[in-house]
Amino acid sequence: MTDKRTELSDLGEFALIEHLTQDFQTRHPETLLGIGDDAAVIAIGNELCQVVTTDLLSEGVHFDLTYMPLKHLGYKAVAINVSDICAMNAIPKQITVALAVSNRFSVEALEELYAGMKAACADYNVDLIGGDTTSSQSGLVISITALGTAPKDQICYRSGAKEYDLLVVSGDLGGAYMGLQVLEREKDVFKANPNIQPDLDGHDYILQRQLKPQARLDVVKILKELGVKPTSMIDISDGLASEILHICKASKVGCHLYDEKMPIDAKTSMVAIDFNLDPSMCALNGGEDYELLFTIDQKDVALIQSNPNFSIIGHITNLAEGTYYIDKSGSAITLRAQGWKHFD
Ligand code: ADP
Ligand code: MG
Repeated sequence: MTDKRTELSDLGEFALIEHLTQDFQTRHPETLLGIGDDAAVIAIGNELCQVVTTDLLSEGVHFDLTYMPLKHLGYKAVAINVSDICAMNAIPKQITVALAVSNRFSVEALEELYAGMKAACADYNVDLIGGDTTSSQSGLVISITALGTAPKDQICYRSGAKEYDLLVVSGDLGGAYMGLQVLEREKDVFKANPNIQPDLDGHDYILQRQLKPQARLDVVKILKELGVKPTSMIDISDGLASEILHICKASKVGCHLYDEKMPIDAKTSMVAIDFNLDPSMCALNGGEDYELLFTIDQKDVALIQSNPNFSIIGHITNLAEGTYYIDKSGSAITLRAQGWKHFD
């Protein structure tokens, strides 16, 4: 250490991880991939791989218990880890759960949290196999590690996209972000006047997207049934723009993403317009949708095009062409990531 002091916000999350880990080399041939994807990949024998991922949720940063029921939080904490396993085209099998909890929480409150985790374990067919529990001076911190498996030749990395591949996304985008906006608005109204009941009517879909996101394990299974192996894949936690750029950087390619092709549910669009927000910007930068973003070879286009779970939103170009977003008027704009920046 030197006397020099650099602020975390000078680097940002991704540059910080890169900076801290750049001098680490992997020592074992079984470690097929360490840092840099949705999960690490470890060979077990010649054909099978284990995938491992960790995500941490910190009160006040990732969740707000004024509107997030603990049961939903437990469910979401598991689902977002399962989502990273799915992003490797793998099947989730086990989780461990580490908790730091302040004495503000009762046993009954933590029972609620675990009821949510149990429901998610049932939905995604995963086993809770361990963890750690400790006290905290500042609320609740939950760190989950998920493990999964896949045949070596079925693993999808962020780095496999190639020129002329098509860019595909599952489900629809922007809903989780609009759900959060509605919850934050009602929280402000409540803070100003605690006698006013929150008005959440008609917002079921986007609230569900925010409070109880689903990992797209079904998509991993559908792809397998279709016989389509994506050339690259990532899950959408930080926002479509950020995740596309991760794929392009890891694959050393460029892209064209088309505004008009982005799947946005009518309910998401309506609420975005109510909030004076451009629905496309919510889809691009909102985050927390936990859909899967992947690239496919042109030979698979017919299989994906005819499936209602998927939207083809663009294509991959060579690196020199750059990363572009084609807006409603047909203008090409450089794609930028404006997702969550925790150190700002
Ligand atoms: P995701 O959003 O898919 O969970 P992240 O952006 O959190 O992925 O992480 C990107 C990569 O950096 C992953 O390979 C992850 O394991 C690794 N990583 C994140 N934080 C750390 C850390 N503190 N030390 C080492 N590796 C880290
Ligand atoms: Mg991920």
